[in-house]
Amino acid sequence: MSTVLVLVEHDDTGVRKAGLELLTLARRLGEPAAVVVGDADAAVVATLGRYGAATVHTLPGTGSPAALTALVRSISPAAVLIGSSPAGKEVAARLAVRLDAGLITDAVDVTGSPEGPVATQSVFAGEWFAESRVRRGTSVITVRPNAVIPAEAPVEPRVVPAPTPVPDDGPGARLVSRQPKSAGGRPALSDAPVVVAGGRGVGSADGFALMERLADALGGAVGASRAATDLGYCPHEWQVGQTGKTVAPQLYLAGGISGAIQHRAGMQGSRTIVVINKDPKAPIFELADFGVVGDLHTIVPALIDEIDRRRGPRS
Ligand code: FAD
Repeated sequence: MSTVLVLVEHDDTGVRKAGLELLTLARRLGEPAAVVVGDADAAVVATLGRYGAATVHTLPGTGSPAALTALVRSISPAAVLIGSSPAGKEVAARLAVRLDAGLITDAVDVTGSPEGPVATQSVFAGEWFAESRVRRGTSVITVRPNAVIPAEAPVEPRVVPAPTPVPDDGPGARLVSRQPKSAGGRPALSDAPVVVAGGRGVGSADGFALMERLADALGGAVGASRAATDLGYCPHEWQVGQTGKTVAPQLYLAGGISGAIQHRAGMQGSRTIVVINKDPKAPIFELADFGVVGDLHTIVPALIDEIDRRRGPRS
């Protein structure tokens, strides 16, 4: 069975969820092998094994593109899967150039075919799906968060440190410091499994706090339409849509959002869409799996109360 390399990100809290999703996808294409930059401690290796990584390759230091390219050349995998974060896309682009291979970015699904992996992309503001296949060299594919639900398939992984250090041609730019942005205890919008989004219909910044309370009750991130951010109800980085973030959570709950094409472009890949809007003709209902026609100022507090009641007292 051919190997499928998965570049996995990890931090102090363990393996990032996106990596577990990639391993789950990789199992459709061949035998997954994880690539970890830096040391992989026992807990990281155990997690990767639980999600089917037969091999864990560790790349020294910060994982230079040269080292990753050398690893890919030595293994000749059927595909390299990388998360579609800004950093992941940069790594993927540099890898593909060095390998002289084809690159597909922002896949929302990947399946196997006799000719090689087929990646599905959501295109034209999410109105169409395109299926593509790399025709030259190793398929390098970046995959958006939440493309699949991570599923366990335990194996006992082999840990293989990268061979002798690869000479690096040196960075064109040097990273001098990093300042992690405070997430405020909520998951990052781009890869949160639950997103609660508010629009102009929320009515005010104070009203937006209600949507934040619902997001917190569901353990989700907060999103917004451009109208809501332009009106100053919430920060601009919460904007979802064509000129904001693209999200594809398991659950997207939209309150007071009409469903303009530019907003839909950023969220219509969501698995389950719940809409609260007082106008039954609002276009966003066309996307809804569940829709509630009514005033969000009545419905959202009732929803929060019901979640709290079912969950019991929070510690
Ligand atoms: P509205 O369209 O005004 O809708 C408000 C909705 O709230 C209505 O449906 C109303 O029925 C409902 N409502 C009102 N009160 C209540 C209540 N009490 N309870 C329940 N429902 C209520 N938009 C984005 O979102 N993201 C983008 O990335 C983006 N990019 C753009 C790029 C370009 C080039 C352009 C031209 C536009 C872009 N827009 C974007 C703007 C977009 O066209 C819409 O204007 C915007 O999405 C509308 O936001 P909204 O749905 O919150 O507001």
